[in-house]
Amino acid sequence: MIEHVCLHIDRAFGWPIRMHAGTERPLDAWDARRRQWSSTRILRWLGEVGPAGGKLLGLTDVDLFIPILTFVFGEAQLGGVAAVVSTARLGDPPEMGDGRVIWERTAKEAVHELGHAFGLVHCGTPSCAMGRSSNVRDVDQKRGDLCGTCRAGLDERSGRST
Ligand SMILES: [Zn+2]
Ligand SMILES: [Zn+2]
Repeated sequence: MIEHVCLHIDRAFGWPIRMHAGTERPLDAWDARRRQWSSTRILRWLGEVGPAGGKLLGLTDVDLFIPILTFVFGEAQLGGVAAVVSTARLGDPPEMGDGRVIWERTAKEAVHELGHAFGLVHCGTPSCAMGRSSNVRDVDQKRGDLCGTCRAGLDERSGRST
């Protein structure tokens, strides 16, 4: 699945990808009351422990939350360094949760969150990876790539001329 996610990230952003399988875990991100993990604290932790000089995407299977929502598929620092995506809610309904379906969903959400880290905001084009998703139906509606408008925004930010 990680290779599949990398493939989509490469296609969307075209930046070199380095994998890092660290054994450290952000223990302060666990919320004992909600029995979930704070995605915001994971982002902060990634920024502290991750290698410098690029964007960081954390991939996890723990259930993520932000205070105002029941759960999130992921979160990113807008225009910042860190992004995180979880598979915990992407295998819904459970019979859809194995094989390629969850790979595709995870890859789309990885592109989405990294897009935020590259400074992109939500997009109104339903098929665009930067479209907002509050459930897996929304995720399934999206393609794993950026629409023309988002791609142009990305090129503008990265200073590419094409
Ligand atoms: Zn988003
Ligand atoms: Zn778009």
